[in-house]
Amino acid sequence: MIDFTEIIGHEDIIRHFKSSIEMGKISQSYIINGETGSGKKTLTRALVKTLQCEEGGTEPCNKCKSCIQCESGNQPDIIWLTHDKPNVISVEEVREQINKDIDIRPYSSRYKIYVVDDSHLMNTQAQNALLKTIEEPPAYAIIILLTNNISKLLPTILSRCIVLNVKPVRERDVLDYLVNELKLDKKKADFCMDFAQGNLGKAIRLATSEEYGEIKEDVVTLLRRIDELSAEDIVYALKNMNHHKLKISDYIDMMMMWYRDILMLKVTNNPGRLMFKEYYSDIKKQSVHISYEGIENVLKAMDKAKIRLEANVNFDIVLELMLLTMKENR
Ligand SMILES: [Zn+2]
Repeated sequence: MIDFTEIIGHEDIIRHFKSSIEMGKISQSYIINGETGSGKKTLTRALVKTLQCEEGGTEPCNKCKSCIQCESGNQPDIIWLTHDKPNVISVEEVREQINKDIDIRPYSSRYKIYVVDDSHLMNTQAQNALLKTIEEPPAYAIIILLTNNISKLLPTILSRCIVLNVKPVRERDVLDYLVNELKLDKKKADFCMDFAQGNLGKAIRLATSEEYGEIKEDVVTLLRRIDELSAEDIVYALKNMNHHKLKISDYIDMMMMWYRDILMLKVTNNPGRLMFKEYYSDIKKQSVHISYEGIENVLKAMDKAKIRLEANVNFDIVLELMLLTMKENR
């Protein structure tokens, strides 16, 4: 069932929505910004269902016609924009599905709500077309833009929307979910929690991946031998990891966990808290050679690599730069 009580974390955003509903101050345009898997869609589904509920409360009643329609995904006054090409939302799509449609009054509800997922995929013309609507929407219309790359949205759009940034979920809450709902054992839950860094969707993705063990093995095999391998070997290995469901940035995240383990061991000398406990001796060996500064450099380089990959900088160049830093600091 979709409602706010089912959502883990995101208390700030939920509080904001609820108090806006109570005070009758719902904005007509929102941007919900956060990485993939962070909960944007779940929050949006709960919000639009609540707004359209016939009871008009701060939680959906789950009984009225609108609530039932929401559950089956066919509430006629909630429109999720669709697009044909995977990497772009065109101006025609914005015009057809929003601009031309918005003057038609809601079919049966209080509001007419448009949701644009991956709104950063709108090209400049599409954004400019949408801007006109955002500037003067009919009183019943609400536009919600979801994005994991807010820098791609025009400043003119940003200035007219309320921007809500999705924050990481507390580790404790992620762990509880993995253990209680997904029935993971503590060790696997710990690993997935650390991997996800507060992104519940990401934790679930790894936890439920059939290739979980294989993915972890791939990363470990690479990192154990990092000293012996050439840069080309490593780029090749990373490319080949792409056949799994995870993204390259997920592999980098897992590599970061390895380096955080090295750091942890250096600081505490206590193997009990390592994520890659089974590889204690390898981590121990590497921790002797690398300095604190070296670890910091590697973690920074990995963060940078993820940002560059997100910005579509050439894959090989990004990885080679990252590997160079890894090799320099060992
Ligand atoms: Zn209802």
